[in-house]
Amino acid sequence: MTSKERKRVQFVIKSSKFCNLRCRYCYEYAELGNREAIAPEQLDKMYAHIASYYNRLDRPVDIQFIWHGGEPLLQHPDYYWRTFDRQQQIFGELASSVTNTVQTNLTVLNNKHIHLLREGFDGVGVSVDLFGGLRVNQANKDSLQVVLANMDRLQSEKINFGCITVLTKLNLPYLEEIYRFYEKIKIPFRVLPLFNGAFDGQHQGYEISANEVLNAYRTLFDLWLESKSPVRVRPIIDYIKPVIRHYIPNAQPDFYNKREWEYMYLVNVNGDIYSYADAYNSEFCHGNLFETPLENIVLSAGHEKAIMAAEKRMASACHSCEYFGRCSGYPVAEESVIHNQIDADGNAQCTKEKGIFQYIEKRFKETGIINPITRKVNMNQDYISKHILGLDIPG
Ligand code: SF4
Repeated sequence: MTSKERKRVQFVIKSSKFCNLRCRYCYEYAELGNREAIAPEQLDKMYAHIASYYNRLDRPVDIQFIWHGGEPLLQHPDYYWRTFDRQQQIFGELASSVTNTVQTNLTVLNNKHIHLLREGFDGVGVSVDLFGGLRVNQANKDSLQVVLANMDRLQSEKINFGCITVLTKLNLPYLEEIYRFYEKIKIPFRVLPLFNGAFDGQHQGYEISANEVLNAYRTLFDLWLESKSPVRVRPIIDYIKPVIRHYIPNAQPDFYNKREWEYMYLVNVNGDIYSYADAYNSEFCHGNLFETPLENIVLSAGHEKAIMAAEKRMASACHSCEYFGRCSGYPVAEESVIHNQIDADGNAQCTKEKGIFQYIEKRFKETGIINPITRKVNMNQDYISKHILGLDIPG
């Protein structure tokens, strides 16, 4: 690689599967009672392998660690303070490009956590669905009220955070209430369509189809578009940039090239590393990041297999798609598997993304944001130019 373009890579780290909740849709469900955690020394080895690989590349890179579980805040805060110190030592000059985000159920929050979230982590994501009652503890008690109280505490402590709300059949009827809730408290949020579970039949009773997700996206887009004080709702606003890229003179096309660059890896508690699309599928395991240099992992047979499968998915859905080049193809390459949009031959469908692109384009034309005659984006007449075009949103 010779380009000096800045790149980003995320490592989702499963510090431990141990959790105090038993959310009914959790894809880690079978392991939530397992207290095993990645040992500090294993984290050090992982950092050494990551630092060595990216130090040798001829480009600047932002390295993001996203701490997942289970519930990552059930580890003692010192676990993270120590590892942040070790990152500084091991990454050396690269350390200023390293950030840490935690994805928490926010059911445990004491003064030490507050200190850790404010001074230690660079970002905080809170998992909360607001409706549906699926996020329960071992006694089947809904965690919602505890989480809302702790979100109030984060806000009063001036700790920035965002939320993730999993879309299921049970909260689909409440999309407007969900949007208004976040709009009122001015907290950005992401809706995450229900993904494959830990076992067959786990999601019975609250599964949603791709068309239901698409309809939910349309509703959220309209709420966002018509809001007087819009809140940042992902992935909806991520979908705007590919739509308007088409109308921006000299905009460069964007094609996802997994062979050239991986944006996201998942590291399991035992060090096994996967692409996001093939997490926990042993056939596609790239190796073990505690034991093997990342250079070897990138060149492994498992990684090659994952690349070829992603390329096949893109060939089946993206190469004939009107949006390919505006949309990079990443949704089909990396997200269609976990959202069950693959047929038995490994070919992909793209109901949600293509559908929401078409809808956004239609609505932008109706509202004059895109002029269908001149094919120009009306950038000066709407806040969208300011709030969307200025953002660095991956296509
Ligand atoms: S909209 Fe879907 S099919 Fe089209 S390029 Fe994007 S991911 Fe591929």
